[in-house]
Amino acid sequence: GSMESKLKLSDWFNPFKRPEVVTMTKWKAPVVWEGTYNRAVLDNYYAKQKITVGLTVFAVGRYIEHYLEEFLTSANKHFMVGHPVIFYIMVDDVSRMPLIELGPLRSFKVFKIKPEKRWQDISMMRMKTIGEHIVAHIQHEVDFLFCMDVDQVFQDKFGVETLGESVAQLQAWWYKADPNDFTYERRKESAAYIPFGEGDFYYHAAIFGGTPTQVLNITQECFKGILKDKKNDIEAQWHDESHLNKYFLLNKPTKILSPEYCWDYHIGLPADIKLVKMSWQTKEYNVVRNNV
Ligand code: UDP
Ligand code: MN
Repeated sequence: GSMESKLKLSDWFNPFKRPEVVTMTKWKAPVVWEGTYNRAVLDNYYAKQKITVGLTVFAVGRYIEHYLEEFLTSANKHFMVGHPVIFYIMVDDVSRMPLIELGPLRSFKVFKIKPEKRWQDISMMRMKTIGEHIVAHIQHEVDFLFCMDVDQVFQDKFGVETLGESVAQLQAWWYKADPNDFTYERRKESAAYIPFGEGDFYYHAAIFGGTPTQVLNITQECFKGILKDKKNDIEAQWHDESHLNKYFLLNKPTKILSPEYCWDYHIGLPADIKLVKMSWQTKEYNVVRNNV
């Protein structure tokens, strides 16, 4: 209600704790690195607000057997510990859902989705499906929503310090690179086009989130771009990720997660990466994808 005091950024966030990395964007959004946040203050605040957090994950075809169980088991353990969570699990074959035992405060809903033929379409069509589910029920069920790839595993607490209106993830391989080197879509004909000289960060489509209203806007705008490209017979280089990068260029995220939240151990472990909260699974495209 109106009597509740709102948290200020300085109540939980200290950008000077990590002077060697970018902790604040030029539009004054926090970039959350290990050491910059006080999770206890936020846990207390969000417990009083009685928030519920949603998490969507898709597993189509061989991604079910290959990744889903480890993703869910690790999420059960590390995602928003102490707060109510609803997992929204989208699969093409409900009978192959792994049996998982969830802790208290956790529940899940499983939905059957239509499998697309091409992996590119499976990935991109998530934008359409997530939007439809937000409108149909998710908006009434959660206060914040994350959308994640299934080919990754939680390694440590992924907590309420990640919550915000619209949240983007720094891509592990690009967090120190020059924007002109980013693999943005560079063809003018695509809706995802970003010219050289523009762009803030290279965001990873494997994790994005926000309030249901904001995530609805993200997914609808990205899907519009995807459809426009299909009409013009063009496909953005990195599919939904290219469109997500265009979206966040035009609509700046209010919070950004450091690559500690989605790290690829194939890079090694540089000193910047203090505590890995989630890590990539090894890419085995020849095993899991139907058209490589
Ligand atoms: N996906 C799936 N089945 C497929 C292709 C993709 O379930 O055949 C889903 C899954 O959640 C996966 C996400 O779409 O994590 C994105 O695809 P992928 O992880 O292969 O893309 P990458 O991270 O390699 O760009
Ligand atoms: Mn992935």
